[in-house]
Amino acid sequence: MSICSKIYEGKAKILYTTDDPEVLLTEFKDDATAFNAQKHGSILGKGVINCSISSKLFQELEKRGIKTHYLDSPAANQMRVIRVKIIPLEVVVRNIAAGSLCQQTGLPLGTVLKKPLVEFYYKDDSLGDPLLTRDRLYLLELASPEQVDTITHLALQINEFLGDFFQGCGITLVDFKLEFGVDSQQQLLLADEISPDTCRLWDTSFKEDPDRRVLDKDRFRRDLGNVENAYQEVLQRVLKAVKINT
Ligand code: UDP
Repeated sequence: MSICSKIYEGKAKILYTTDDPEVLLTEFKDDATAFNAQKHGSILGKGVINCSISSKLFQELEKRGIKTHYLDSPAANQMRVIRVKIIPLEVVVRNIAAGSLCQQTGLPLGTVLKKPLVEFYYKDDSLGDPLLTRDRLYLLELASPEQVDTITHLALQINEFLGDFFQGCGITLVDFKLEFGVDSQQQLLLADEISPDTCRLWDTSFKEDPDRRVLDKDRFRRDLGNVENAYQEVLQRVLKAVKINT
């Protein structure tokens, strides 16, 4: 496989075309941003760690019948993926109240939700990724009702798998964000990444300690320190769990 040209550079990843028009190469960067790119920084080793965690999780999801864009990982910070047209929705699944849910509803941080909440945000930085109602989503024709139903079903299935998987790693899955895309065969595929950048992950051993428990990007957002260690810790636990499962 030869890399052809850069087609997109985002906050955390660079996308390249390859000699196969159906295949793209994603390179994960160490760069980190938060608060709609108002805060910039770098997390040493993040590119390799997030690529490795995402690759493992996509492979585990594939084994359970969830179709993803993942093909393989030719280098530690690179992933070959099926080319998709990304649906401009950030699909957030929440098990425990945190982040914007607390800010916008007043629910106390850490409230365990009676059932998982699936939310859709409009993936548009210039608008600040606003929370969408179903009617606004359809008004903007971001996805069809069938796609929304399928995405909701998949998001809940993925939540069930990831929740159990992370529980086995001594980690509580608080919430996470997914993106989906459509390939040239019109198949809906899970895309983007699943990593400490896109999930809230709390160390189960320190459940009651609001700073110590954090193993995700909130360490960077909230200047909690030890960001690299937390990301590395998640990777080590994921690798161990995958090994035990096989
Ligand atoms: N999230 C993400 N990208 C975004 C916004 C949110 O990966 O652009 C993830 C975030 O890391 C968290 C979940 O989605 O795991 C819910 O985020 P929330 O809406 O609470 O927003 P935040 O408080 O992170 O701004």
